[in-house]
Amino acid sequence: MPIPRLLIVGLDCAEPALVFERWRQELPTLGRLIAAGSWGPLESCVPAITVPAWSCMLSGRDPGELGIYGFRNRPDRSYGRMAVADSSTVRQPRLWDHLGTAGWRSALIGVPGTYPPPRLHGVAVSCFLAPGPGAGITHPPELAAELRGWLDADYLLDVPDFRSEEKGRILRDIYTLCDQRFILAERLLEREQPDLLMLVDMGTDRIHHAFWKQFDPAHPGFVPGSPYADVIRNYYRHVDARIGTLLARCDPDTAVLVVSDHGARPMLGGLRLNQWLLQTGRLVLRSVPQAPGPLDHSAIDWPRTIAWGAGGYYGRIFLNVRGREPEGLIAPEAYEAERAALAADLTALPGPDGAPLGNRVFTPQQLYRKVRGVAPDLLVYVGDLGWRAIGSIGGEGLFTPDNDTGPDDANHAQHGLLIFHDPARPTGGRRLDGLSLYDVLPSLLARYGLPAPPDLRGRIVELS
Ligand SMILES: [Zn+2]
Repeated sequence: MPIPRLLIVGLDCAEPALVFERWRQELPTLGRLIAAGSWGPLESCVPAITVPAWSCMLSGRDPGELGIYGFRNRPDRSYGRMAVADSSTVRQPRLWDHLGTAGWRSALIGVPGTYPPPRLHGVAVSCFLAPGPGAGITHPPELAAELRGWLDADYLLDVPDFRSEEKGRILRDIYTLCDQRFILAERLLEREQPDLLMLVDMGTDRIHHAFWKQFDPAHPGFVPGSPYADVIRNYYRHVDARIGTLLARCDPDTAVLVVSDHGARPMLGGLRLNQWLLQTGRLVLRSVPQAPGPLDHSAIDWPRTIAWGAGGYYGRIFLNVRGREPEGLIAPEAYEAERAALAADLTALPGPDGAPLGNRVFTPQQLYRKVRGVAPDLLVYVGDLGWRAIGSIGGEGLFTPDNDTGPDDANHAQHGLLIFHDPARPTGGRRLDGLSLYDVLPSLLARYGLPAPPDLRGRIVELS
């Protein structure tokens, strides 16, 4: 068997239009894998968000089945409490669990949803959700001390404060983040001789958010002639080169999967979701702040409030239902009508120019096979993900040019990408259409002849 049998390189937020079209000729490693293997756009889950998308991909389950609807979730029906969805929230087996049962040893580096590190057959270094680089980020625990000796600085879990104007510092941190993951991958490959080696680079995500308007004329804040115009392109070239170096250390017969959890697009602006709920009388505050600021749940007049929201790359709306929320207003029998009216109003909402913004509004029951935990009552793609949902309240106006939690140039796009190449079974650049993130797990298990749970959401795709 080659070592590793399978290399998975996750590129968080890697955008198919940039890899497959715009910069394909400048990315020799990815270009070679595309030309020799199979490739195509990969539809993400709804919401197309890092957490839960990676866990959905690797478990074959949807956000409702996992009970993970974003980075932060309501742990119960109380008001204002949100908890980070960490590894312990994922109750379904993921790829390495299935492979471990079949005797495969895995080495994982930075896979979102692996803090606390899973107790797998193999080794794991946690993801960006870990609170700090010290003990507790690895399996086994003693690996953490060894890591430090392999790196010339502390292990960087994420780019600190990536929504800021310190562009030079952010760029340096993005490269450090990337290089550390590839260094660890090379070290763990050599020492562990794993059957599965998987790393996820978050740099591709952070660089889109920090620099997109510097190169894309479609961004409303495009900076012509920016000194940062080539930053994203150069970074993709750097990542491509690192993948090439890592592949050169793998067995020539190692199969390779390059995959992203969603894509990226320019952020056109922000819709102030809570401000809209306030204007329409659905959200009532005891006093409205003069200037926009974060929604203070303790200032909400709950017995008079129908709904409140949370912002982010997508919007979430929670309804205040009698008998379900502590001070619920909506009678249970009126819930569906109230929710449908909200969805209809949001769908028809005009943008700043008076034309419809193109919002897409979903209920969890439409999207998911099960709805575990506390799901939002509505999920909103503002401008079909072209716009960001803004949670702030107070002041004037429904629309903002920028994000309210720091500068952010990019929003997520519904499609990420997939490239697969097995040197023993080349497919000569076959384009795969209609791929879904849910197809990844059943397709991988099938090609290695391993049993899959009978009720997975995705289908088996012939990757090679
Ligand atoms: Zn992501």
